[in-house]
Amino acid sequence: MGDDVIGRVRRHLTPALVFHTGVVARSAEGIYITGEDGVRYLDFASGLATTNLGHRPPRVVEAVRAQLDRMIHSGCIVYYDAVAELAERLARITPEGVDRFFFSNSGAEAVEGAIKLARHYTGRQGVVACIGAFHGRTTGAVALTTSSARYRRRYHPLLPSVFHVPYPYCYRCHMGRRSDDCSLECFGYLETTLRHLVTPEETACIIVEPVLGEGGYAPAPREYLQRLRRLCDEHGILLVIDEVQTGFGRTGRWFACEHYEVRPDIMTLGKGIASGFPLSAVAGRSEIMDAWPPGAHGTTFGGNPVSCAAASATIDTIERDGLLDNARRVGEAAMERLAAMKARHGCIGDVRGLGLMIGIEFVKDGRSPDRGLVERIIKESERKGLLLVECGTEKNVVRLMPPLIVTEEQLHRALDVIEDIIGG
Ligand code: PLP
Repeated sequence: MGDDVIGRVRRHLTPALVFHTGVVARSAEGIYITGEDGVRYLDFASGLATTNLGHRPPRVVEAVRAQLDRMIHSGCIVYYDAVAELAERLARITPEGVDRFFFSNSGAEAVEGAIKLARHYTGRQGVVACIGAFHGRTTGAVALTTSSARYRRRYHPLLPSVFHVPYPYCYRCHMGRRSDDCSLECFGYLETTLRHLVTPEETACIIVEPVLGEGGYAPAPREYLQRLRRLCDEHGILLVIDEVQTGFGRTGRWFACEHYEVRPDIMTLGKGIASGFPLSAVAGRSEIMDAWPPGAHGTTFGGNPVSCAAASATIDTIERDGLLDNARRVGEAAMERLAAMKARHGCIGDVRGLGLMIGIEFVKDGRSPDRGLVERIIKESERKGLLLVECGTEKNVVRLMPPLIVTEEQLHRALDVIEDIIGG
């Protein structure tokens, strides 16, 4: 039966779309996915950092059912309360002053919207993004994405006037530094870019992930983001913070930028926003969003009433169940255990993260990326009932992104599986 599903999918879907596991799901509930064969998997992949409340969270299911009974689609023909409800909730949790929204369907679409908005508002064309970052796969978004050249291969020429500067990925510093001799040369490279490649006066925005996602699960140093904010202020450049993967409690706060005390001008939201229903948003300061004139951007499905209802219930659940606290607490327990594992196993080169967005970087010979080991860990984990996903340009980082409802006991069970594999 399972083989049949996989066979049918392979027959009719393009191989461009990669499935991460060999599991065929029968159902999913909370932190568990049950396979066709009845095997229960502990889900540490969360549908790519999306089912932040676990699968089928009861309040979300209930809110969606109620919305289905009322209305499914508007297409911006008629007004509806689900979108107003969501916008009001979002405005309460987004950074101060970032309280206007444009809803769309995917992270990439939100990034497209953010680029358009920044260019429209400033009248400037230049966009600066980071080497190693992931911002999506649509043509505009992939022009910013550089977590792997493979994602860009055969799509050139991409969007013009996009400039790339090194992400502060400290374990594998693009500038060849180690953390004890770092003076943020990567930031100096950005300044060089604004001197030699594009003037600040022509630069619409700088877009950054506060924690590098697909590129390796590496949080930016605090000083880097704070200097970025100051540089943007100095030149009237808009700071776009891509919180598609880091948002909605993933890092133990509503948004990762809160850890840095850095306020974005524009923020992109997606993934965890609606517990798996397709929804994303461009969020921005009112003077920017209100200057975007009618018709300058649009959508048919964006802000779908059902997705909006799911998102409002998602926010309510995170609040009522204290899931930000849980993410912080379990995240700290994970970092403590991983530090001990790193001391015991030479194949762990680095562990890092914020909340429940944690990367374990595997190496051989002390430093070279060990992609083979990560492949083995992921395959064997699956056989042992744990679903994991990798990241990083060299695919040598295991990412831990369980739902925010994860318990310490479940965390240790997952780490036991990993430790068993690397120790055995
Ligand atoms: N931005 C970031 C930071 C992401 O991690 C992703 C997806 O992984 C995207 C944008 C694109 O989102 P989507 O796959 O929903 O288009």
